[in-house]
Amino acid sequence: MTAAPTTPGVLADRYGRVAKDLRVSLTDKCNLRCTYCMPAEGLPWLAGPQLLGDDEIVRLIRVAVERLGVTEVRFTGGEPLIRPGLPGIVAAVADLRPRPRISLTTNGIGLERLAPTLRAAGLDRVNVSLDTLDRARFATLTRRDRLADVLAGLAGAAAAGLSPVKLNSVLMRGVNEDEAPALLRFALEHGYELRIIEQMPLDAQHGWDRATMVTADEILAALGSEFDLTPDPAERGAAPAETWLVDGGPARVGVIGSVTRPFCGDCDRTRLTADGQVRACLFATEESDLRGALRAGADDEELARRWRTAMWGKRAGHGIDDPTFLQPARPMSAIGG
Ligand code: SAM
Ligand code: SF4
Repeated sequence: MTAAPTTPGVLADRYGRVAKDLRVSLTDKCNLRCTYCMPAEGLPWLAGPQLLGDDEIVRLIRVAVERLGVTEVRFTGGEPLIRPGLPGIVAAVADLRPRPRISLTTNGIGLERLAPTLRAAGLDRVNVSLDTLDRARFATLTRRDRLADVLAGLAGAAAAGLSPVKLNSVLMRGVNEDEAPALLRFALEHGYELRIIEQMPLDAQHGWDRATMVTADEILAALGSEFDLTPDPAERGAAPAETWLVDGGPARVGVIGSVTRPFCGDCDRTRLTADGQVRACLFATEESDLRGALRAGADDEELARRWRTAMWGKRAGHGIDDPTFLQPARPMSAIGG
């Protein structure tokens, strides 16, 4: 492999893609146990010293923004709202120049209380995960009876001006596969933007099965039975969601067909795990350790060089449909979804 180029402000790979969107996992822990993500008993969590400290996270984000051209920072996890330093991290990232857009993917628990603080700190937008509107199903799917907290979190986010509030839903066969129209109705009623995501092989239990996955085609057929969907004329760019106007617009709905309609060719993501590893892709089987370099005294240029090298090795696609596909050793919750 040739060496990664060192063009200032550019984080490129060998296939001509340029990463501008950084996903940062703030913790691998979570207060829910979604069945497609984690086992009931949770996982062996990262130990304290393995986790990056708040200042270390901000430093690595600063390197990405100032030296590598990152323009979008999304915090995720695990559940990012359970990290006590989140408002301070958001505020420090909002002070960077050029100021990146800052967003958060969350299960919404605690968002009702935290939304105004996060908004004031500089958070621009949130995606809240909600797979069902039925309390009993929610409790089965997440193994916690917390639907009311999530709904309150959504309302709190909208009231705090974290707009547009997006809803992320995963449909599972035999659990909530019939809920696509109801979720869209709910989103339209509240002014949220719904995205339905195909389930991916990223669960810690390795329970994913291609044969039973609810596909983008099925999701679109279910939505189409109740709504008139027309292709969204807006430019898709590197967005993973294909979007449609609902009943002529302006409301939209998105479907993320990560498995059956992969968008790897347009991917502009780079990822940082809570323990300071760079990943070029959710499905990468390799990671590059920035934490070790940072703690050994590397300067910003050295950290940027390591990050560039990690991204230069990014593969062309995730290869889920390839017979040799290997699920990454870390589950989604530890990588940062
Ligand atoms: N805890 C936060 C949440 O649930 O939004 C952030 C982390 S979670 C891993 C990020 C997103 O990944 C959520 O929308 C969740 O539904 C999705 N997710 C988790 N496991 C998945 C899987 N196996 N396939 C598809 N999406 C998944
Ligand atoms: Fe937690 Fe999010 Fe995984 Fe659900 S999907 S268990 S909320 S990290």
